[in-house]
Amino acid sequence: MNAPEKSPVNAAQAASPAPRRRSRQVELRWGSHTVRFGADAPVMVQAMTNTDTADPVATAIQVRELANAGSEAVRITVNSPEAAREVAYLRDLLDKGGLSVPLIGDFHFNGHKLLTQFPDCAQALSKYRINPGNVGRGARGDDNFAQMIEVACRYERPVRIGVNWGSLDQELLARLMDDNGKLAQPLDASAVLREALVRSALDSARRAEELGLPGDRICLSAKVSAVQELIAVYRELAGRCDYPLHLGLTEAGMGTKAIVASTAALAVLLQEGIGDTIRVSLTPEPGGARTREVQVAQEILQSLGLRAFVPMVTACPGCGRTTSTVFQHLASRVQAHLRERMPEWKSRYPGVENLTVAVMGCVVNGPGESRHADIGISLPGTGEQPVAPVFIDGERRVTLKGERISEEFEAIVEDYVQRRFGHTARVD
Ligand code: SF4
Repeated sequence: MNAPEKSPVNAAQAASPAPRRRSRQVELRWGSHTVRFGADAPVMVQAMTNTDTADPVATAIQVRELANAGSEAVRITVNSPEAAREVAYLRDLLDKGGLSVPLIGDFHFNGHKLLTQFPDCAQALSKYRINPGNVGRGARGDDNFAQMIEVACRYERPVRIGVNWGSLDQELLARLMDDNGKLAQPLDASAVLREALVRSALDSARRAEELGLPGDRICLSAKVSAVQELIAVYRELAGRCDYPLHLGLTEAGMGTKAIVASTAALAVLLQEGIGDTIRVSLTPEPGGARTREVQVAQEILQSLGLRAFVPMVTACPGCGRTTSTVFQHLASRVQAHLRERMPEWKSRYPGVENLTVAVMGCVVNGPGESRHADIGISLPGTGEQPVAPVFIDGERRVTLKGERISEEFEAIVEDYVQRRFGHTARVD
């Protein structure tokens, strides 16, 4: 029997991500600036500095870079009294520079001491990240955890309870392994490890609520560095609580491997409606920009159609029909131009992030793909006439030729952006 044909409605549904998982909403505040995540809020992009927080000037510079790149909250390391002492000054530097991006303090081992001994630090942070695997063992660990939650209650700050398989509570894991060993059909070790991660996060969240922290000030994460494990852990976590979830593949590594692995893991979960904030943990190449992790996070969300940040460029890969590197140069130049123009366009032309641009290498798919985009250019391939038709809103409008195709095409894009998005310009 033939499969029933899909109706247009079903086809449209199939092209969308699953509905977002139902979760509570959490607010991150600094001054009058509020960022919401969870529930129906857009999936939030965040990043983390790699400067020494004890150097507030260097950290402020990097926080600004990350925020300007699109990080909607920035996490900083707070690992020592020297770092904790500088957090309020760092916040002050950002405020004086007009930057209200919320700061998240990342605490391990001594967070209970730093948050209680440096109240200015506790107050300057908009959220605390607590790793229950790194708060200490037994009764002392419980007490340390409680001290941090009490500070969160006192300053009305949300917390992320962030477990990580590199620092998992070993007592909990040993107990679950023992229990598992007594089962008639024991689970495999990786399933027990996943359960330990989930249990650690959920038990800590329950304990935080018992200590008085409202449930809508709790977010969870359970990071691992293997793609399939991460997907399995988050599916489990998503099914067992309604706290917002922060996603990230921890220790993803460098370069394309890190980007591909992070994208593979996050895309599957986001497509299933799981994930309320994301971070892409990239090890920068020597001399590479820290902001790359923000760009990748944005591109994951935009590629999935969940959010729009910058106009998307569709470019073909090129093949034997592309006679020179002109096409590659134009595609890369247009992409860079759009990103460079975005800071100004964003405030002047609301909605411009939804613009689509196509840069194609020859007549095979060039005109067709260019018609699908808002603006497209189809460069001449081998043996074609040396002209580049430009399509605007699906119609062939102009034909470019000669040495200045790039500049002329950029001018056409600029003009289009002004005409299409200029009428909604904000007046500041
Ligand atoms: S559009 Fe033309 S140049 Fe680009 S990949 Fe297809 S055939 Fe090759």
